[in-house]
Amino acid sequence: MKFPRLVISLKKIEENAKKVLDMLNKHNIELVAVTKLVLGDPKIAKTLKDVGIQKIGESRLDNIEKMIKNKISGPFQLLRIPMLSELDKAVLLVDEILISDETTALKIDEIAQKYDKNIELIYMIDVGDLREGVWFENACKTIENIAKKLKMAKLSGIGTNVGCFGGILPTKDNLNTLVGIKKYLDDKLNTNLKISGGSTVTLKLIESGELPEKINQFRIGEGILLGTDATGHRDIPYLSQNTVILEAEVIEVDYKPSVPVGKIGRDSMGRIPEFEDKGWRKRIILAIGEQDIDPNGLKPFDKRLEVLHASSDHTIIDYTESEVNYKIGDILKFKLSYGAALRAFTSPFVKKIYQ
Ligand SMILES: *Cc1c(COP(=O)(O)O)cnc(C)c1O
Repeated sequence: MKFPRLVISLKKIEENAKKVLDMLNKHNIELVAVTKLVLGDPKIAKTLKDVGIQKIGESRLDNIEKMIKNKISGPFQLLRIPMLSELDKAVLLVDEILISDETTALKIDEIAQKYDKNIELIYMIDVGDLREGVWFENACKTIENIAKKLKMAKLSGIGTNVGCFGGILPTKDNLNTLVGIKKYLDDKLNTNLKISGGSTVTLKLIESGELPEKINQFRIGEGILLGTDATGHRDIPYLSQNTVILEAEVIEVDYKPSVPVGKIGRDSMGRIPEFEDKGWRKRIILAIGEQDIDPNGLKPFDKRLEVLHASSDHTIIDYTESEVNYKIGDILKFKLSYGAALRAFTSPFVKKIYQ
């Protein structure tokens, strides 16, 4: 066996996907299952499709290409505003594109005409998080003008994203802003635009019954794949967090002082390390590092372990409080934060196995 590795439970992902799908179905909300965390992993994508999820959301065309090559059928939604340099490919591979600018919209329209390809556009609106989208106060006129210029591509909806830059939470109020903009546009354009209003963090508004009823599309990755909500800072109680487990191997077990000896500069990542003097401590070194994980996002199964630090390829753990007498060759297990999981799925050094 080869370590480090991610042990991926397709069964648990399936159960999570089913629960989220059922919940959204009940509220007539379309579920777009987001695969960017797992780089469009075809086995996971297949699991999502088999549950009955129609649409897959992805931020990267390479991942969409990988899925298509592995016989995962669309429709696909492109989550990241496309680069002009990838528009040709985007129009060919994708069915629905999130956009936030006139230049991109018109170029997509031009390419769609060239290929005679139906393509739907969701215009993103920034309700305060300061990532992508037209600022909400300018949205009505801006989107109206652009929609009127489209010939082949079709404005099918508006959307928003929160929790990503500013950490802004979705609320009844900021989502109602979208509902107001939809009403204006539907009136001017004679449309019935959908509102792509949510991601994992927005599940909470469904649970509390506060979601405005016009919101009818959610794009969800983290909740299904990890059972967590990083922005809302919670484990989602009705979903499983045992979907993905990291296993890493111990390469050194030692007993050392808790404070380094000598003059302190910076660590390998340019950070100034700080140390609390706890005397001599029992420590483990794992063969995994910053290249593969975010050490702050490691959640050890052995709750008494304290992750101290990682450099490129070593992670140091204090096990003084643990009841286990670790030895070289032992395998330690962790759940992962979204950030740590993102790096682990992306690292070519972390093997992926499925059960
Ligand atoms: C990543 C992403 C999502 C999915 O977010 P989760 O928190 O993983 O549910 C939704 N929309 C956009 C635009 C994204 O980039």
